[in-house]
Amino acid sequence: MPEADESGLTIVPRDSHDISRRQISENALKVLYRLSKSGYKAYLVGGGVRDILLGLEPKDFDIVTNATPEEIKRLFRNSRLVGRRFRLAHIVFGRDVIEVATFRGHHDNKSDKISKSNAEGRLLRDNVYGTIDEDAERRDFSVNALYYDISDFSIHSYSGGIQDLRARTIRLIGDPETRYREDPVRMIRAVRFATKLDMQIEPRTADPIPALAPLLSDIPAARMYEEVLKLFFSGKAKANYDMMQDFGLFAPLFPQVQQLLNEAPNGTMSKMLKAIMDSTDRRVIQDKPVTPAFFYAAMLWYPLKQRADDIAVESGLNTYDAHVAAMGDVMEQQCRTISIPRRFSTPAKDVWLLQLRLERSQNTRAFKLLENAKFRAAYDLLLLRGEAEGGTPAKNAQWWTDFINADEQGRSEIAKKSRVGNSRNRNANQRKRRRKPASKKPASE
Ligand code: ATP
Ligand code: MG
Repeated sequence: MPEADESGLTIVPRDSHDISRRQISENALKVLYRLSKSGYKAYLVGGGVRDILLGLEPKDFDIVTNATPEEIKRLFRNSRLVGRRFRLAHIVFGRDVIEVATFRGHHDNKSDKISKSNAEGRLLRDNVYGTIDEDAERRDFSVNALYYDISDFSIHSYSGGIQDLRARTIRLIGDPETRYREDPVRMIRAVRFATKLDMQIEPRTADPIPALAPLLSDIPAARMYEEVLKLFFSGKAKANYDMMQDFGLFAPLFPQVQQLLNEAPNGTMSKMLKAIMDSTDRRVIQDKPVTPAFFYAAMLWYPLKQRADDIAVESGLNTYDAHVAAMGDVMEQQCRTISIPRRFSTPAKDVWLLQLRLERSQNTRAFKLLENAKFRAAYDLLLLRGEAEGGTPAKNAQWWTDFINADEQGRSEIAKKSRVGNSRNRNANQRKRRRKPASKKPASE
């Protein structure tokens, strides 16, 4: 391994590293070659290089070049330009999209049109183009400042990236506080890479995080959506959650959840979080689907319950109406920090509504409920509630488990005999209601 020069650059020739083109997707290679043959510089960069070097399979392949977005657009018919904060090109191959960015340069003393920060130093726009050296300085962590050069198959490692990769160190490039202020999302990326890559965050990179964590609440909610999914849906939810709590990064993202944790640090909310993280990780590891609808329904269940109770007391609404009113409130609050697309918030609300029906349909109506498209998700949430709370939710969860596991005849028996008390009471109520007008009749006659 060659040494880094004093600027932190190491060039590793093709015969001194073991990245082979076979590990790079065909589409990414096509883009790299086309750029290179057209006379541009073209590198695979960031996670793609990092993960291959670590023996992991990259999630996606990002490419960087000295061609401008307009030049890229002209070169690839199947491309479109995206992004405001960072303008870049997407080259589309059916469902596969390769992201191609132009080298980013320094942004001091440039006009507002191409680069802009807010009062806290956060970069709002960053469209200054530059050289590969400048681009490397604009990257977040040294292990992400790795470039695979398609023209000679060498790796250009900046800021000691390849050395940090070997030492398993997450190190922010440049002055950590400045870099976090520029983009507070880097704080949660530090956590995510530490758990994903099984690396340590070096102290200078870790130290400023607790004090700067509140800056996360200012990030546009739309941007947080993706980042949060990466945190919780990559098989490291529990580890990420724990580390985010250690750094104070959870509270600004989930203020309603944190509020309940503050009231009872080892209470039901805390047990629920553990149950959610464990079950999400288990599902990801088993290759089972995970959906934001279920995730947010579970995360926000106890804030919802509390809000519904408050509404019932304040306004005298009945349980059901208070529940429905609270659903809107709680979802809206959450969307201030993390936007949740409607295609997920709507089914999350369905799962919430079904919780009430799971409590009340432990009788012959259970068959009907079983056919509901959201039944499985609602039952899974009930299981988590049972795990977190014990008591009635656990009993309800057990009833449904027995019901699901029984054969057709067994189900009929369970539906008829169990909760006899419940259905008898309900029948009694119905009888009472039905009888009322009848009993009035003679009096009015
Ligand atoms: P993964 O794909 O596993 O999430 P990644 O490193 O590829 O990891 P991306 O979000 O795909 O992460 O970003 C690609 C590259 O862009 C990174 O490796 C990094 O060099 C750069 N980058 C991404 N986000 C930032 C940021 N907030 N600040 C600076 N550089 C960033
Ligand atoms: Mg990536």
